[in-house]
Amino acid sequence: MNIILLGPPGAGKGTQAERLVADRGMVQLSTGDMLRAAVKAGSPVGLQAKAVMDSGGLVSDEIVSALIGERLDQGTGNGAIFDGYPRTAAQAASLDALLSQRGAKLDYVIELAVDEDALVERIVGRFTCANCGAGYHDKFKLPKVAGTCDVCGHHEFKRRADDNEETVRTRMAEYRAWPNIAPRPRRSSRSTKRAGWFAASTAWPISAR
Ligand code: AMP
Repeated sequence: MNIILLGPPGAGKGTQAERLVADRGMVQLSTGDMLRAAVKAGSPVGLQAKAVMDSGGLVSDEIVSALIGERLDQGTGNGAIFDGYPRTAAQAASLDALLSQRGAKLDYVIELAVDEDALVERIVGRFTCANCGAGYHDKFKLPKVAGTCDVCGHHEFKRRADDNEETVRTRMAEYRAWPNIAPRPRRSSRSTKRAGWFAASTAWPISAR
């Protein structure tokens, strides 16, 4: 089964994907994670992507679709969860092509909808342990002992460069623009809809909404 998880930044796509990975043996394909890994590694893709990511803009369609294609070639177990991809009509067309070239198809699109102000609070306050990656929040989940990771005892923490309010608002505006370029499941948030039409047309026509 191959699915797209849609939702604004901070809606919980990563958390839900982790559950699907653990419970169903699926594989999460997050272009944001792939790009952050490329930036960290200092690869040519990372060098190109860094400034765009820090400003909350979109990395080029060619780069992200190539990353997805390479990842699909490594195999996807019981199916792929596309997280943060596709984000443009061109990427949607590429996803259709990448899947069909591999004899696969898209099965479902799931949208997570959350109030935007709540999301800003959630994102701006989040940080992780620099050693083990355990997640914390300034307001909702501080370490039990100040300055010490609950999981591994490490004392350093980090925040994503793009988790500041200005960039978050830009990323949300960018997400809100998605309906203009790609159809969404028509029914309310939290609903799951069979996505045959989603994958059926590379154009993802707005009339299909
Ligand atoms: P995310 O973790 O999905 O919020 O992505 C973080 C940043 O990576 C975004 O703000 C974009 O700059 C970039 N990015 C991630 N996925 C894509 C994509 N599918 N297309 C273009 N840029 C992307």
